[in-house]
Amino acid sequence: MTEQNVVTNKGMVRAEFNFWVGKYMDKFYDNLENKKIVGNKCPKCSDVFVPPRQVCGKCNETIPLEQNWVDLTDTGTLKNYTITKWKITERGSRKVKDSIIGMVQIDGSNTAIIYKLLDVDPADVKTGMKVKIEWNDKTKGEPGDIKGFVKA
Ligand SMILES: [Zn+2]
Repeated sequence: MTEQNVVTNKGMVRAEFNFWVGKYMDKFYDNLENKKIVGNKCPKCSDVFVPPRQVCGKCNETIPLEQNWVDLTDTGTLKNYTITKWKITERGSRKVKDSIIGMVQIDGSNTAIIYKLLDVDPADVKTGMKVKIEWNDKTKGEPGDIKGFVKA
């Protein structure tokens, strides 16, 4: 094909699809639907992962699917955060009021998950503060079941 034969169109393409998240995340999302947090524990170094992992990131040990699950609480510690004025949407970004995106280590785990902090004034946010999950009223077994974190 020569260069003259190439037709270029600019625009947006919408692609809707479903994908399977795997057996470990499947169990995690099943629990989210019931407003519960589970993690899994490495049999070698005892680190606990939220979300669960098949292979330990620290010692490379495979964590069996059938065991090593740990029930955790919906409380945690804010490890880090950022404040943004931008809301990211499907079509780009637009300026909104400040929102705080936090990295939260669920109590009893060794990893952190990233969610919005709700009802926290940017002037009051501090790393190390205790936070608690705010669940959506209707859960569907997906990341959005967690609305965000509020001060504990
Ligand atoms: Zn390990």
